[in-house]
Amino acid sequence: MNKVLVVEDEPDILEMVRYNLDQAGLDVETAEDAERALQSVQEILPDVIILDLMLPGIDGLDMCRQLKQDARTRHIPILMLTARKEEVDRIVGLELGADDYVVKPFSPRELVLRAQAILRRSQGSSQSTTDAWLHLGPISIDKAAHQALLNGDPLELTGTEFKLLLTLIERRGRVQTRDDLLDTVWGYEYSGYGRTVDTHIRRLREKLGEACEWIETVRGVGYRFRRERV
Ligand code: CA
Repeated sequence: MNKVLVVEDEPDILEMVRYNLDQAGLDVETAEDAERALQSVQEILPDVIILDLMLPGIDGLDMCRQLKQDARTRHIPILMLTARKEEVDRIVGLELGADDYVVKPFSPRELVLRAQAILRRSQGSSQSTTDAWLHLGPISIDKAAHQALLNGDPLELTGTEFKLLLTLIERRGRVQTRDDLLDTVWGYEYSGYGRTVDTHIRRLREKLGEACEWIETVRGVGYRFRRERV
């Protein structure tokens, strides 16, 4: 059974989220502050963490940062809860590496769907054991080991960034719309989250440095990975 840790200091929201995830068949642990949550993470190593941004003491941003700095917990996907839409850019990837976000107030159903989508894609990517290294210019990617190299050095990518890069590379030379990418990488069956894609592409390009030009923006449509060096 998939383990979810929910970190939220508002008891009503915590209970509502716990109830709905439990109904969806997930094994739910809860924490009302980041200190206890960080302890639980080490103990239970959850498959996904649902983390409120505004917490007393250590806030959600700091907690996220701590998790991403720890090799033991770096891979655990994080779904952020936020009351402020303006925070979205910061939350998703830019500096923190959260995998997704939901803006309050949210419907329990949407939250459950997002959590399930995150679980599907983190498990889908770790279970694929076919193919060896793919090499594209300075980028090498090992699908099975979930590893990417840039000029031979390991690229520190979040699970979502890796899946995004892999998807673009596997479909190189072909334009991918934001909806295509949402569907494949995020597992959403609905559109309207194009900004999530843009934010992750931006972060991925930053990590690729000079190699960022391999990911082309096709204006008004989406993104395309080059087939060959320009
Ligand atoms: Ca809160």
